Parts: sequence; structure tokens; C-alpha cells
Amino acid sequence: MIGIPLGLLTANAFEWAMHKHVLHDMGRDKNNFWAFHFHEHHKVVRKNDYLDPNYEKFPLGLHAQGKEAWSLLAVSAAVAPLFPVAPFYVGTLWYCAANYYRVHKRSHQDPAWGRANIPWHYDHHMGRNADANWCVTKPWFDYVMGTREFIVGEARESNVLGLKSIPEWLAKRLPKPERLGKDLAKRSLKSVA
Ligand SMILES: [Zn+2]
Ligand SMILES: [Zn+2]
Repeated sequence: MIGIPLGLLTANAFEWAMHKHVLHDMGRDKNNFWAFHFHEHHKVVRKNDYLDPNYEKFPLGLHAQGKEAWSLLAVSAAVAPLFPVAPFYVGTLWYCAANYYRVHKRSHQDPAWGRANIPWHYDHHMGRNADANWCVTKPWFDYVMGTREFIVGEARESNVLGLKSIPEWLAKRLPKPERLGKDLAKRSLKSVA
């Protein structure tokens, strides 16, 4: 059963590292396979005030959303041989891959929901610094790595776990998000690259 928390932590660290080093660093080169995130998704989102209408498309096509879905399927297949030894761990990773797609898609189809439920990802797209806020489903590794930056005046999570409701005793023991994150200005829409 320890596989479940370990799986959640691994998936969150993977979200952070993959987004930063692969989707942004490697994807900055327009000819790279990973360019779909930085050159397609980011541009569309900036243009449409956080909405990405391409999520309406069939999810396994050769567009940004299809490449995102195929990448998640490939990672899920790559860990499958471990299933007989670590079923809870691998099962959790599969859940996290599916949940990543679901949450990312929903946030860009329903910006009000995204803003309220994953404000760290809203800040990633709409803030002045796109080299921050690498987590998507939960902000954990942004706090661990010191890369959580809040847009001043926007909604933000009330606890560092990014959970809507947590017991009072736990909330008191956790550091305040403001203590670990930094403030960030909102980028004006005119400065869309
Ligand atoms: Zn990004
Ligand atoms: Zn996004």
C-alpha cells in the first residue's frame, strides 16, 4: 500500500521535471517533437485568456492535445512491466497519468474552473514568468523546488497541498503558501509573443 503515496509523489515530481526540462527546455526548439506545448498550447492559451479550444478535437490526433495524450500513454506503457512487482505503485502512476490529462483539459475548457481549482497552472500561463509553476494537478514540487510564483490579486490555493478541504489540525501544521512562494506580476495581454 506504500505504493500509493510513493506513486503520487513520483508522478508529481515527474510532472514538474517533464514540464520544465522536456516541454519547455527541449520544446523551445520549434522542430522538436515536444514543441507542441510551448509553441502551440501556450500561444493558444494566451490568445484566448486561458481557454484552449483545441481540447475539443479528437484526443489522439497529431496536434498538441494528441501528442500530450500519446506521451501519457507511452509513459504508462513504459512502467507496465513493473506491475507484477509493484501493483499499487504502478496503478497509482496510471491513475495520475489519466488524472493529468483530465485536469489539464478541464482547466483549459473551463477557465473559471481552472482558475479556482489549479491556480498554479493559471499562473504558469498567465503570469509574467512562464519559467515557474511547473506542476499541473497539485503544486507540491513547486513548493519543494521553490518555483511557486503567485500572480498578485489572483486566486491562490489556501494550503501547500493544493487540496480544497483539509482538516484544521493539518492546516495548522503546514507552512503557509505565501511563505514558500513568491509574488509575480500578471503579464499584459499585449505582450503575448
Ligand atoms: Zn508550460
Ligand atoms: Zn496548460
